[in-house]
Amino acid sequence: MFDNFKDSQFVAFSLLTNSIKNNKISHAYLIDGNSNEHAFDFVMSLVKVILCKYHYTNFDKCGSCNLCNRIDSGNYPEVKIISSDSLVIKKEQLLELQSDFSKISVEGDYRIYIIKDCDKMNKQASNSLLKFLEEPEEGIIAILLTNNINKVLKTIVSRCQLITLAKDRHFNSDSTLKNFAYSFCSSQEEIDNFLEDQSKKDMIEAIIKFILYYEENGLDIMIYLKKMWYNNFLTRDDNIMAVFLMVLFYFDVFKYKYSLNDYFFCDYLDELKNVSNANSLDDILKKIDKCVEIKENLEYNLNTNLTIDNLVIGLGE
Ligand SMILES: [Zn+2]
Repeated sequence: MFDNFKDSQFVAFSLLTNSIKNNKISHAYLIDGNSNEHAFDFVMSLVKVILCKYHYTNFDKCGSCNLCNRIDSGNYPEVKIISSDSLVIKKEQLLELQSDFSKISVEGDYRIYIIKDCDKMNKQASNSLLKFLEEPEEGIIAILLTNNINKVLKTIVSRCQLITLAKDRHFNSDSTLKNFAYSFCSSQEEIDNFLEDQSKKDMIEAIIKFILYYEENGLDIMIYLKKMWYNNFLTRDDNIMAVFLMVLFYFDVFKYKYSLNDYFFCDYLDELKNVSNANSLDDILKKIDKCVEIKENLEYNLNTNLTIDNLVIGLGE
């Protein structure tokens, strides 16, 4: 069930359920699996949400729904899965798919093809896929899955809606992104207390100033890193806390985009609004993920200065 991912993949789940419920299904999704071992399960449950008319209307019925069972057992002809039987995905596999889809009589509203490890497509296969993506046919949906997003052709990436899954290590099945944020402290109270702690005000103001300057000027901030970062965050713990505050801030930006309430930085609504307007959802999610990664690197005792440089450069990627 797709709802099983509500907590562990809160961000991706929210993005997709919103678009499905609003009938704005994209013709192509690129799922950055982020080495998450449940990535393929995620994709298959997404397929069922799109195809099964009982999802979100009659859960009880869907549990035993004939269509979902057929999809699970690979007996539903309108769902095709392409994977790399050897090291590469070949053009022939794409052509076979295209000819299959041109023959089959349509059972439902949508036909879906999934390309596992889409970074393994050779050049000819990629070109063949590009044609598919450039002239999307009504009712055909592509779901591409990869753990090596950097190896996927930029032209393919740009034609898909990118969905980034959370890495396994960040989330437990019973924790939402919010719980994940809380997990750095013992409770929400602790975060609230921290944010209200007058002695931490300088730190919070410094990080917000940093984010806003970065959002406006991008990598130009490198020239002012000493002034805007290193002079404010002296110890390793300060640095870890500063990056954690960035996670919370961008999480607020994410919530702002979704018109959700309950912000950590409720005194900074104008700032949240500006950053929200300046970033796509994908941008925000990437920034959250980058900050989480950098926080972990700091905790692993990697060189602080290099790690923060890496953060700033990574945010703009
Ligand atoms: Zn079903």
